[in-house]
Parts: sequence; C-alpha cells; structure tokens
Amino acid sequence: MKIRGRNRSSIRWKIVLIYCILVFIATTIVGVFLMSSMEEYYINSAKNNMQNTVRGGTLISSIGSYEPLNEHADEIQANVDAWVRGLTQEIFVVDETFYIVAASNANRGKSAADFLDCNIILSALAGETAESQGTLALKTPEIPVLNMAFPIPNDEGEIIGVLYLREDITSLEDSVDQSKQLFTRAMVLAVLITFILGFVISKSITGPINDVTEKAEKMAKGDFSQEVSVKSDDEIGQLAEMFNYLRQQLNDTLSEISGEKNKLETVLRHMADGLIAVDLSGKVIHANHAAMKMLAVTEQDIAEENYDELIQGLNPDLTMENLMKRCEFEPESEVFESAGRFYDIRYDRFRDENGKDVGLIMILQDITQRTKLENMQMDFVANVSHELKTPLTTIKSYTETLLAGALAERETAESFLGIIDSEADRMNRIVKDLLQLSRMENNQEKWNMKEGNLISLLKMAVTKVALTAQTKNQSLNSFFDPDSRVAVIMDKDRIEQVVLNILSNAINYTQDGGRIDIDLVTQQKEAHIIIDDNGIGIPEEELSRVFERFFRVDKARSRSMGGTGLGLAISKQIIEEHGGRIELTSRENRGTKVEIILPLSPAVTRGMPNIE
Ligand code: ADP
Repeated sequence: MKIRGRNRSSIRWKIVLIYCILVFIATTIVGVFLMSSMEEYYINSAKNNMQNTVRGGTLISSIGSYEPLNEHADEIQANVDAWVRGLTQEIFVVDETFYIVAASNANRGKSAADFLDCNIILSALAGETAESQGTLALKTPEIPVLNMAFPIPNDEGEIIGVLYLREDITSLEDSVDQSKQLFTRAMVLAVLITFILGFVISKSITGPINDVTEKAEKMAKGDFSQEVSVKSDDEIGQLAEMFNYLRQQLNDTLSEISGEKNKLETVLRHMADGLIAVDLSGKVIHANHAAMKMLAVTEQDIAEENYDELIQGLNPDLTMENLMKRCEFEPESEVFESAGRFYDIRYDRFRDENGKDVGLIMILQDITQRTKLENMQMDFVANVSHELKTPLTTIKSYTETLLAGALAERETAESFLGIIDSEADRMNRIVKDLLQLSRMENNQEKWNMKEGNLISLLKMAVTKVALTAQTKNQSLNSFFDPDSRVAVIMDKDRIEQVVLNILSNAINYTQDGGRIDIDLVTQQKEAHIIIDDNGIGIPEEELSRVFERFFRVDKARSRSMGGTGLGLAISKQIIEEHGGRIELTSRENRGTKVEIILPLSPAVTRGMPNIE
C-alpha cells in the first residue's frame, strides 16, 4: 500500500487557525456590541443631558409666551443669551417659517433650512421631541454634532416654534474611537496569544497522534517493536493504548502465522513427494523442491513459464485443461511412465471459501522404486515357482514311471532313482540358497566375524576346485604370494562360499582347456581378489542383471551344471555385509573378470608389506 506523504503539521495549523478564528469572531462580536452600546450610552447621556437642560429650565415656557415669535425676537434672544451661559450646546429658536428668531451664535435671522436639520424641526413642529446626529460640514475636519429639537407650545398648547439644540460631540466620538483602537489592540493581542497557546496546546494533541502515525508506519514496514507511550487517559491516551494493544495482537497473530508458514514450508521442502499448485490462469503458484526436481525445472523457469509448458517434459497429456476436466467432481489420480521412471499423480481442484474454483493442486510421487520392487517381487515368486516346478515335474514323472512298473527293472529303477535324488538335491540347494538370502535380508544370519588371512583362504579354495578344473583340462593359475598374509575381518566360511562360487562359475563357464587366473592385491586399505577366466563371457546387454536372483544367461547350461542362479546374488550380499563390493566385467567369448573387494583389517593395515 502506498502511504500518502504526510504533512505532520497540518492538523496543528488547523487547530491554531480554528482557535484564532474563534477568538477573532468572539472578540469582534463582543467588540461590536461593546462599541455600539458604548456609543449609544454616550449619545443617550448627551441626549439626556440636553433634555434635562431644556426640561429642567423655563426657557421653553418663557419663549412660548412670546407669540408670535418673530415679533419678540429681541426678548427671546435676551432669554437665550441669559440661558446659554455655562452651556456647551448651541441654541436656536426657530419659528414655524424656519426663521431663526434667536440663536446663541451669529446665525440669528437666517433660515434654519440652510444649516439645521429640517427633519427634526418638522417633527418638533408636529409636537414631538426629535433628535438626529450629523456633521457640521462648514468646518474641516467635519465636526460631529447631536441635534435636538423641542416643540415650543404657546399658552394654549399650540406649537409656535422649535427650540433647537446642537452639541458638538467630537470628544464623545474621540473617546469611542479611542476605545475602538484599544479594543482592536486587545483583539490583536488576544489572537496573538491564542496563536501561541494554540500552537502549544495543539502540540499536545498532535504529538501523540504523530507518534502513533510514525509507529504505525514502522509497523507497516514489519517492525513490531514499536510501543507508543500513553501520557493521558483521554481519547488520545485511549488511542495510544489501543494502538499498543493492536500492535501486540498483530505481532502475536503474525508470529503465529509465520510460525505455521515456516512449519508448512519446512514440511513442503522436505517432502519426498512433489507438490504443485497452479492458478486458473495456468501460473504455478507453488512448486516444492521435489516437484522442481521431477519436472527438471528451476525457480526461474517456474517464474517465466506457465504450467502447461513446464509439464511438457514429464507428460504432455497432463495439461491444465485435461486435469481440470478429469477432476471436475472428485479428486483423481493416475500412474504414468516418463523417461524410464514411474510416477503417481493425484490432483484435485482447490476452491476459495465461496466454493469457487481457484486452481489445481497436484501431488507427484516418484514410484519407480516401488514399481521396480513390486515387479521384482512378482518376478521372484514366478522364478521360485518355476525353479521348484522343474525338478518337481521331473521327480513326479520318474516316480510315476517307477510306479507304473519300471521298478521291476532294477537297472532302470536305479537310474531313475538317481535322477530323482539329484533333482531333490537341486531343490534342496535352491531352498537352502533362498533361506540364506532371506536370513541375510532380515538380518537373521549369524556372522562369525574374525580376523583371518585371505591368502590361506584363497589357497584352500583353489585346492578345493583344482580337481574339477583338472577334469576340464583347465589351468588354474595363482599369482598371489602363498606365503604372505593379508588380514581381513571376515566370516571365513561365507567368504570361502563366495570365492568358491566365483571360482566354480569361472570353471563352469569356461570351455575345456581354458585358463583361470587368481590374484590378490592390496590397494588403499583394500584387498582385491581377482578371478579372471577366458571363458564364454556374458553378453554386454545382460551384464547389469547378473546379480539378480535366478538370472542366468543360459538357463539350460546353468541348470546342467547344478546352478541355481542365486550364487552371485548371495555373493554380493555377503560381500556387502563385510563392507566390501563385488565387480564383474566381461566380454562375450573373451572371458569374465570378477573382483571381490574387501576392506583390510585396520589393525594390521599399517606395517604390512604391499603384496602388489
Ligand atoms: P549359477 O548358479 O547359474 O552359476 P550365478 O548367480 O552364480 O548362478 O551366476 C549367474 C549367471 O551369470 C550364470 O548363470 C551365468 O550365466 C553368468 N556367469 C556367472 N559367472 C560367469 C563366468 N565366469 N563366465 C560366464 N558367465 C558367468
């Protein structure tokens, strides 16, 4: 997820701005109300003052007695002059024709319409006390004035004129202006203080939020060690507390998930079976190590190629489309062969929580070994049955012949019984050999391991077969030094059994007059018994099978020699039990060379003369 570039101060500035605007609005409202009520108060007190001055005196009543006014101008002027002393207001007495009958200044005799407020004069003439504010434009700067007009009634109560008072309210306006200035300054100061305080206070709000944001960012990057300090128990404190709780929970859950994931990955990695998961688009989502090995692909191949391309090498029939079709209703499995190996593939669709197909999952099992074993078992049973059936059939047929009357002829009967005896021996040998093999395989064979001299063992074996070789006019050539000593830890009887088997094979499968060489060399802590003949050899294509049970190149020939076809299998097993190995090389019609390799006895290896 892309995190938007953060302006760490934005909320802070917003808070400061809101504070300032609020304070500004509040102070402005207060100021406006205060200023206007102050102005109103000043004007009202000025008005009251004028009213008190007029109503408290006798001027109006005395002027009212001079009717008509313009005819008593001098008397009225005298009254005005007497009255105006000590007053700050200007006084005009105006009659109904707007003629100024008397004035406290030089405007007497002029028309009121020229410089007095006619509206209030008219109102006063109508019987009301009226007032107005205005300016005296005659002077610069203009002078603010407060005008008041009082009706002058005659004795009968009729309005005969107006007493017009005008007061210079410059000082009043000045003090209002000064108050305004003072207030404006106070307001600016208040906003300034609010700004500073707001800045400080907002830090206490934005600080923890920034802290949480910063730590959340680190957490998003995978660092879960972040803990936010809880400084208060208000909403911000609760946020910090919740953040810490969330962090802990997330950390625990993620550790749990990653633990499970690791376990799963380890299992998948070490699984002998190949596991492949493919999404609907054919992209391989997961393939474990075993699967990659079976498909002979690398991680890069998986990243670059889709499933259908990858499976081509193994089995072109296993395309995504084919498999999806086959496992539409239930999991499927099939066995196939590829490049000499056998595989068992099980596959099924995998679905999301809504039951919708998401892809295909398959498990590949290399069953080559199992198949081979099964085949071998089947072959073995067939071979054993066959091997036992042949002598049994012979025995049965000869016994039947004997029972049918041949018993009477002594010579024939003896020869038949001889055949029956030799066939029974054969069966006995087969069973013995099989039992020995089975004992060795099940680790039930008792080994009499002792240090012994291979040379004396070889000498003995050669002596035992010498007569047979002689009857075939074969030369048995021993190349080893008969007086030396090659010590090996071994079960003497078993090793002799092996050597005798190899020697008998050499004699049996070498034509009359042939040659058999026997040698023993030591090489790198190993003794090599080499038995080399120039006999019929083994065809190249059969070489790999000679150690298999019951395998014989020429069955009839082997049987006629009394062979069971188990000799080499037993020999191999015995030598392997001794920690050695047996190697056979042969060329058809040229001869066979068998090498029995055994580890030398560690105690005597040092200091022993090399026989080579
Ligand atoms: P067998 O009882 O038939 O000799 P072995 O297991 O000893 O059984 O040998 C298996 C087969 O290997 C023999 O049947 C024979 O065909 C072949 N073989 C073994 N040794 C030789 C050899 N020296 N020369 C040619 N063929 C051999």
